[in-house]
Amino acid sequence: MPELPEVETIKNELLPHIVGRRVNGVTLFWEGIVHQPSAREFCSRLIGQRLIGLARRGKYLIFSLTSGEVLVIHLKMTGSLLLKPALAEADKFVRAVICLDNGTEIHFRDPRKLGAVWLVEDNNSIVGRLGPEPLEAGFTPQLLAQRLANRTAPIKALLSDQTFIAGIGNMYADEALFAAGVHPLRSGGSLSSEEVERLHSTIQQVLWSAISNKGASVENYFRPDGTLGTAHFQFQVAHRLGGKLCPVCDTPIERIAVRHRGSYFCPECQPQP
Ligand SMILES: [Zn+2]
Repeated sequence: MPELPEVETIKNELLPHIVGRRVNGVTLFWEGIVHQPSAREFCSRLIGQRLIGLARRGKYLIFSLTSGEVLVIHLKMTGSLLLKPALAEADKFVRAVICLDNGTEIHFRDPRKLGAVWLVEDNNSIVGRLGPEPLEAGFTPQLLAQRLANRTAPIKALLSDQTFIAGIGNMYADEALFAAGVHPLRSGGSLSSEEVERLHSTIQQVLWSAISNKGASVENYFRPDGTLGTAHFQFQVAHRLGGKLCPVCDTPIERIAVRHRGSYFCPECQPQP
């Protein structure tokens, strides 16, 4: 599923093609993708507006519009936003097409139909409960320590909880924990201040590195031009199954379920709690 680095890449690569453009038309091939308002109202309110900005919050894309409303998009497990020339053929997984006045079309492709769009006046109803952004200045080791204090939940579950910290999912939580030498089942409150500092820095490192590699294409993630990201080639443990060895100590990588999510780790480098 697209996580912070993938959504950030999509934002960066869409931005020059869409900002300042007017929405000339909207086609919905699957109305269920619109969560708010009704599909009909969504189209009529969006058409004619100009896209004046695009931002990311957690795994959400937020397009600001001339009316003051915002178009919010979540790609969930398998969504991508593809830039296409006017009248490009939509493949069978494209659920919505937004046509812009420069002839560009944005195709929302989503094989598993889990993605969502909203058109709202205030995006707080959607992103208001998200935790801090891990790459912003306000996210300090002290803040991470405060948020972890007394937490009994496994650190892996906390890192992928969007209300605890925004934008991290399964892949980058596994990578950050491996780099910090912290077992995924350690309780949040059990980390020493040294471990918290290390984890703070590995979180930022794995996210920046993945952004510079334009995201990880392990499932259905595509960049807006249809090409793949290469961040998964840097993965040390995430998605490395089938007898793959730890790149540091050569121990076979293991996979356990943490709150029903597969978690990859090295049993030597990340000692048991
Ligand atoms: Zn190891």
